[in-house]
Formats: sequence, C-alpha cells, structure tokens
Amino acid sequence: MPSKQTTHNGLASTRQAPGRSGLCAPEPHPPGPAASLAYAGRITALRAALAAREADGAVITSAPNVRYFSGFTGSNGALLVSAGQVTLFTDPRYTLQAGRETAAKVVIAKGPLESAIAAQLASFHKVAFENTRISFRSMAALQKARVDWCALDDTCEALRMVKSDAEQEAIRASVLLNSAALDEALTHFRAGMTETDLAAEIEYRMRRRGAEKPAFETIVAFGERSALPHAHPGPARISGRGLLLIDMGAFLGGYASDMTRMAHLGKVPTATRQLYDAVSEAQLAALDRVKAGVTTASVDAAARKVLTARGYGKAFVHSTGHGLGLEIHEMPRIGKQDKTRLEAGMVITIEPGAYLEGFGGVRIEDTVLVTASGCEILTPTSKKLLVL
Ligand code: ZN
Ligand code: ZN
Repeated sequence: MPSKQTTHNGLASTRQAPGRSGLCAPEPHPPGPAASLAYAGRITALRAALAAREADGAVITSAPNVRYFSGFTGSNGALLVSAGQVTLFTDPRYTLQAGRETAAKVVIAKGPLESAIAAQLASFHKVAFENTRISFRSMAALQKARVDWCALDDTCEALRMVKSDAEQEAIRASVLLNSAALDEALTHFRAGMTETDLAAEIEYRMRRRGAEKPAFETIVAFGERSALPHAHPGPARISGRGLLLIDMGAFLGGYASDMTRMAHLGKVPTATRQLYDAVSEAQLAALDRVKAGVTTASVDAAARKVLTARGYGKAFVHSTGHGLGLEIHEMPRIGKQDKTRLEAGMVITIEPGAYLEGFGGVRIEDTVLVTASGCEILTPTSKKLLVL
C-alpha cells in the first residue's frame, strides 16, 4: 500500500480511533518468559530515551505503542512508564485480558484513562507524551497534572524500526499467508465479477487462513481505475480488457504484510507492456539498492531514476516504500527527502508505481528484510504480469 510522498511519517492514515465495543478483541494469551524479556528490553530502550530528555516518566497512549511496550492488545489502554515501574491503565472490559497479556502493573480506571494517569503524576517532574498521536482532549486531561511535558516525537516509532527475530518471523508468516490468500482467491476469479467481489474473496481467504483482519482496505482496481493509487473497490465489473491492480495485506500475530500484484484481462497492448516493464525495472533497481547503511532517499532515487528515464517520472506520485510491523505504515519512509540509513533487521516495502489518467496504473510491491549485504525478498508471489 503506497504512502504519501512527504517527509511526514504517514502514521495519521493508519491511526486507529479508540474503539469502544471491545467485541473484536483477539483471544487473550499469557506472556511467555521470552515475550516478557522482549518487553523489558523495549522498556529499557525507552527509558534511555527519556533519560536523554531528563524526563522521569512517559505516557504512552497509542494502541500500537502500548502493545509494543507491554503486550496489551485491547482497544483502550495507556502506559505510564517511570524509572522503576510500568503501569497499564485500562477499563473494566479488559481486566481479565490485561492480566493475561502483560507483565505490567494493571490499573482498572472507571473514567478516562488520562484522568487516572494525571492523578498519579504528583511525584513526577518532567513527563514525555506522544505528541504525534494524542488527541487534544486527552492531552487536556493529562495537563491537569502539574508537571513539565516534553514531546516524544518519533522516539517510539524509531525504536520499532529494527525488528527482533521474533518480529521478523511474525512478518514472514503474515507475508506467506497473504500470498497464499491471493493464490487461492485468484482460483475463484471469474470475468464479470465486481471489484468488491474480488476484494471480499481475498479478505475471506485471509481470514480462513487465520489472519486477524486485513492490514488495510484491500485495493482491487480495474481498467482506468487502476490509475487511482488508493482506489476503493467498487461495483465496477472486471470484464473486457484492462489492467487489474490488487494491493493487499493481512495482520497475523499482530504483524502486517503488504503486496501489490498486477494482472491483465485479455491481450496485453504494447503501451501497457511498456508501462509494466518500466515499473518492474524500477522496482528491481530499488531492490538492488537496499542494503544496511544506505539512505532510504537513495533507494527511492534508484526507482525514480528508472521511471523518469522511461518517461513516467511525473506519473510516480508516491514514495517508493515504507516500514511495516505492528502498523501497515511505519518508519522508515522510503521517499525523496528521507535520510534514514537502513539497518539490518528493518522490514520495508518496495513499491514504485506509475499512474496514467484515462489509461491505468501499475504498481509492484514486495515486503523485504534489510540485511547487511542487501535484502531478502520475503514475498514469494511471482512478479510476472498475470494474464487472465
Ligand atoms: Zn500495498
Ligand atoms: Zn505498501
């Protein structure tokens, strides 16, 4: 799934509204010793970042970061991290689940979590908060506490960029499930079905294979509509001739996968073949550039150079890729302006595309693991233009 061509970390598009139903909560699981150790290591890294800011506490309010630092997967949770303690605040719906999922001290709040946290900050001096994620209302509740507040900016997200072995395994499994779901869904493809039909078929196959949910709204776009990078599947019938773009991802074990593949209905016209070959060459050039130590901007430049040389420079309207993990869009961004240096253990997508109004678009996307010597392409699905 492509992200914007900006320097912003793009998390806004995937931010989750604080859910209230709680009916979709996954099955609770007790944290094993290895998991507890992983959370302890993450908290140690966060405390080091707090020490650098001379902060004696942090309030973590976003669901992905609460999960990353504690294991808690409920829709309503917040962490207070101090030098000596980690406390999870949640509501009575999650009493049982919190006890099973996290080794943190659990406080069951009756009202807004931020108010409960503010009431416990009397002995703190300087507390860090998630300025890129928290709502104005939640911040106002926290500010009832008389402490100095300092911004975490992207601190938590930067800590999440390099994936542990266990996280890499979770992403591998998610990627394999995603590819298997596509293979299976395509065996049920029939010319004349709608974009929505095919998207539903894909998501059904994901779920049947054990995915918690799609990692984002599956994109199925046919014909001229494939020129919309973030098309919503609609009632348009997939019939006649034209490009078919499928961008899909699953959440498995909390971790995302992300892949875009192209098919063509009927004989492939020369102009379409040229477009496909150009994007394919750009994707390979970017993959070739991926290696620990190189900047993400240089990976983006490798793809952009090919597409510009082939006359599609202006048609490449997004960045070349993004990190993924507990969220579909994570740091680092693989864009024009991004100076992050890749490190072994980062998991990113490589997904250049070119979109021509009135004609169609092509995007090819793999999920890859950055290594010391290059990258490992995790996505097993063939990148040949599939002719249906
Ligand atoms: Zn994608
Ligand atoms: Zn993507």
